[in-house]
Amino acid sequence: MRIVVLAGGIGGARFLRGLKRAVPDAEVTVIGNTGDDIHLFGLKVCPDLDTVMYTLGGGINEEQGWGRTDETFHLKEELAAYGVGPEWFGLGDRDFATHIVRTQMLGAGYPLSAVTEALCDRWKPGVRLIPMTDDRVETHVAVTLPDAAGEGERKAIHFQEYWVRLRASVPAEAVVPVGAEHAKPAPGVLEAIGEADVILFPPSNPVVSVGTILAVPGIREAIADAGVPVVGLSPIVGDAPVRGMADKVLAAVGVESSAAAVAEHYGSGLLDGWLVDTVDAGCVERVEAAGIRCRAVPLMMTDVDAVARMAGEALTLAEEVRAV
Ligand code: GDP
Ligand code: CA
Repeated sequence: MRIVVLAGGIGGARFLRGLKRAVPDAEVTVIGNTGDDIHLFGLKVCPDLDTVMYTLGGGINEEQGWGRTDETFHLKEELAAYGVGPEWFGLGDRDFATHIVRTQMLGAGYPLSAVTEALCDRWKPGVRLIPMTDDRVETHVAVTLPDAAGEGERKAIHFQEYWVRLRASVPAEAVVPVGAEHAKPAPGVLEAIGEADVILFPPSNPVVSVGTILAVPGIREAIADAGVPVVGLSPIVGDAPVRGMADKVLAAVGVESSAAAVAEHYGSGLLDGWLVDTVDAGCVERVEAAGIRCRAVPLMMTDVDAVARMAGEALTLAEEVRAV
C-alpha cells in the first residue's frame, strides 16, 4: 500500500509514528511543510521537517514534541553573551549540527529535497520525507502591534515570530505563504501523489501546515485529481486545538475553530473522509451534509498505540470511500 501524508510538525510527526505502527509494510511518502522555515545565525532551519525526522528517527524530545532529546544549550548561551539573538527561538547544541549540515549542503548547491534525503540517511525515519518545494516559501502573519508612540502599526512578521515570540497573543489578520505562488513542488511530490493508494491529512494545522503545502501550485490539483481516497483527521477537538494556537490562524482565514468547519474549509472537492473526535460526534451529520463521509472516533494521541488505532480508523474510512 502506498500512502501519502501531508505533514506539519508535531501533529504530523506523532500521527506518522502511529501510522507506521498500524501498517509497518506500507510505503509512506511524507510531503513536509517548509513555510515555517527560518534563517537564524546564518543557518537554514526547517522546524517541521526536523520534527518529523527526529520523531520517526528516535531523536525527538518527547515531552516538548520538538527539538532533540538529551539537549544542551551552550552555543545559544555563547551567542547571547555576544548579544546575538534571537533569544526566543530555542536551538540546542545537537540541533545546531543538523542546521549546519543542511546549510553547508545548500551552499554547495544541493536542493533542499536532496539535503533532506541526506539528513534522513542518518535518522532512517522509515518514510520517504520530501519537502513540499525546493523553493523558498515563508509564511508571514499580518498583525497590528503598538509602535513607539503607542499607536497601532500594521505589519507582516515571520510565522515563527508570531508563533514563538508572540505566542499568538495578538490576532492574526492574515496569513500569507510568501513565495508560494512561484514555488514548484519538489521532485517526487507530484509523482508520489499520482502513485498513491490513499492520501491522508494528519491532525496538522489546517492553515499554516497543510494549508501551506496546498498553496504550492499543482499540489492541491494533483490531490483532487488523484482518484484515490483522501482522508483527514481533525486537529480541533471540542472546538479548540488540542495543542497550540490553531484557532488564531483559522480566524485569520475566516474559519471557526471546530472540527466541522475545518472539514468544510478543505471541502468535498479535496476531502472524501474526515475523522472527528468522539466528543464532536454531534457534528458528523453537518460534515456529511457537506459531502464528506465522517466518523467520530477517539483522536487523542496519548500514546503510539492510540495513534495506531486512529491511523487504522483513517484507513478503514478510506476503504469505505473507495467502495462507494
Ligand atoms: P506543528 O507544525 O508543530 O504546529 O504541528 P502540526 O501542524 O503538524 O500539528 C499541530 C496540530 O496538531 C495542532 O493544531 C493540534 O491541535 C494538533 N494536535 C496535537 N496533538 C493532538 C492530538 O492528540 N489529537 C489531535 N486530534 N490533534 C492534535
Ligand atoms: Ca509547524
